[in-house]
Amino acid sequence: MNKEWVQVTKRSMLNESRQIDRAVKLIGLGARLQVLEGETELSYERLLKLYKEVAGKSPPKGQLPFSTDWFLTWQPNIHASLFMNIFNYLQKTSLLDDGELLIKTYELYSEQMAHLELDPLLSVTRAWRLMKFMHSNQLAMNTCKVCSGRFITDLYENPKYFVCGMCKPPARAGKGQASGSLQLQ
Ligand SMILES: [Zn+2]
Repeated sequence: MNKEWVQVTKRSMLNESRQIDRAVKLIGLGARLQVLEGETELSYERLLKLYKEVAGKSPPKGQLPFSTDWFLTWQPNIHASLFMNIFNYLQKTSLLDDGELLIKTYELYSEQMAHLELDPLLSVTRAWRLMKFMHSNQLAMNTCKVCSGRFITDLYENPKYFVCGMCKPPARAGKGQASGSLQLQ
């Protein structure tokens, strides 16, 4: 056998096992099939088979309904902002690619939620959509002038006057709850 060919084969097998490993991790975190298609190079058929094996059921059908609006509503915004703070930190301090960053950040976010005994409002599929919205500049981040935390905002937010949803919860929101225990600095 040709030496070069063996090396190429070895390399592609290694890559394939990485791809499978990534897909399995994402399925384990509850990702929809569209996320797997976006973040691995495996074929649709392959992913479908993996999904059924790992999740023990067929993936839910249909489009992802999420627009940028969800990320700007009060409590989801706090969760999504926490996610993006962790994501940006890891991106600056590691060489992970987007798929790996998504997995690592989502794991850390989930750990944080478990620690605070809060429901993780942000699903991994929504986290993936958020990552895409940030990359395509459909959402921005601004610093709260009261607490200095970094929060997700729409593009037209005036950074000079921005106050976050934790410092200024909507009038009807119960005090304490999700807001009191999360720190986004
Ligand atoms: Zn604030």
